[in-house]
Amino acid sequence: PSTYAAPGEAGSLVEYRSRYDHFIGGEYVAPAGGQYFENPTPVTGKVFCEVARGDSTDVDRAVEAAWKAFPAWGRTSVAERATILNRIADRMEEHLEMLAVAETWENGKPIRETLGADIPLAIDHFRYFAGAIRAQEGSTGEIDHDTVAYHFHEPLGVVGQIIPWNFPILMAVWKLAPALAAGNCVVLKPAEQTPASIHVLVELIRDLLPAGVLNVVNGFGIEVGAPLAQHPDIRKVAFTGETTTGRLIMQYASQNLIPVTLELGGKSPNVFFADVAQEQDAFYDKALEGFAFFNLNQGEVCTCPSRALVAKEIYDGFVADGLDRVRAVKQGHPLDPSTMIGAQASNDQLEKILSYIDIGKQEGAKLLTGGERADLGGELSGGYYVTPTVFEGDNAMRIFQEEIFGPVLALTSFSGYDDAIRIANDTLYGLGAGVWSREATTLYRAGRDIQAGRVWSNTYHQYPAGAAFGGYKQSGIGRENHKMMLEHYQQTKNLLVSY
Ligand code: NAD
Repeated sequence: PSTYAAPGEAGSLVEYRSRYDHFIGGEYVAPAGGQYFENPTPVTGKVFCEVARGDSTDVDRAVEAAWKAFPAWGRTSVAERATILNRIADRMEEHLEMLAVAETWENGKPIRETLGADIPLAIDHFRYFAGAIRAQEGSTGEIDHDTVAYHFHEPLGVVGQIIPWNFPILMAVWKLAPALAAGNCVVLKPAEQTPASIHVLVELIRDLLPAGVLNVVNGFGIEVGAPLAQHPDIRKVAFTGETTTGRLIMQYASQNLIPVTLELGGKSPNVFFADVAQEQDAFYDKALEGFAFFNLNQGEVCTCPSRALVAKEIYDGFVADGLDRVRAVKQGHPLDPSTMIGAQASNDQLEKILSYIDIGKQEGAKLLTGGERADLGGELSGGYYVTPTVFEGDNAMRIFQEEIFGPVLALTSFSGYDDAIRIANDTLYGLGAGVWSREATTLYRAGRDIQAGRVWSNTYHQYPAGAAFGGYKQSGIGRENHKMMLEHYQQTKNLLVSY
């Protein structure tokens, strides 16, 4: 029962091509090695297109095409670039439903999220950076009566961007918008699990950008990502993905001494203080919703609130109510607008999650709900579905320490404020956190004491442009989603002039 037809069905908003090449210098270009790989949809597990399998020759071509475009693009006025970014946003808005279906079909996430959040956020991101670049100013400093220091922002040149599969279009736009706004040309490598939705976007907006400003090379991490990050002619690499891959990216970048920004993994705590259950009111209800938020995007979110810390005083009642909320999360066809949890993005990811469920059982965590692959029947039987899962255990366990990236919650209790902060910070990661309390002082203190780049108070999973996003500790380097990101894509030029 779906109001959105799947690709290939009558009335579908998106028609994928059966084959996607690279997009280099404004043209579709076949891979130098002549190889393609199959791309299945996680909704049913069936292959729906094949995709160029890139290699270092394709990366070379893309970097060359980008440098060819750079002299003109780097000198466009900020007004021109802002106008183009706004036009891209307008075009995306006109085709919002089509982009949402494309992303849902390729990634397996519910249409209500792609339609209501992912694509609208991507659109707003272009508009935000269109505004930010126009508002950015250089500076002048007086050195002495006859001498002035002028500071200008200049683009870096050609930059490499490597993205994951969990929010394909949004992750691309988080990187493209500031880079293009700042006047750079880009070589983008989509995740091998979700290249097609990126190409749907590129086809939609390609006429708005000069040839070579945006180039897309498809393929695998080692075959395309590694040569891109090591390329002697790129001036920066921006990466989102796993912490282990992030370490490699830093090593690659060190060969050419180029800057990196890294958005990596997380194991975010969601902390419920005792006063949450003081009354069974609308606030309590909102907190329960927050407890069940680990299911958003099937748990495939770097900031997934994958550890719940609940005050001992309220533990039994709050957890019982929270579990009811988790069991009510509706799983179904991702294109059905009432579906709240869809398919995991790939078979590998499904297997990784199931293996962590086994690990949880083996290490003695208590399974409170879920814990299995879901068979949704019919054509969905071949898809990659997992039931929302909650384990109760101890923060030292692997399921509390390692990123599972699935709808699996690791739940524990705490005794008092200091214990809550100790457990929250007992992790390698420091990306996101949630704190829930009726007391503003508790929220403020916990917000400052938790070592994470983003702490949500009495809410979770909001990602507005203008709120800096990035990690402490091993969750990354740099902040996206904010005008400060522009400077990560710029050089500072100083002219020291003696009059
Ligand atoms: P991944 O690191 O396996 O892959 C990410 C990208 O890097 C893909 O395009 C992949 O092809 C490429 N890649 C893989 N190996 C590479 C190599 N050796 N050299 C260059 N490129 C390489 O991560 P994933 O499994 O695709 O994504 C999930 C991870 O991303 C999770 O850890 C998640 O927390 C993280 N993530 C972080 C954020 C954030 O903003 N912090 C956002 C989304 C996802």
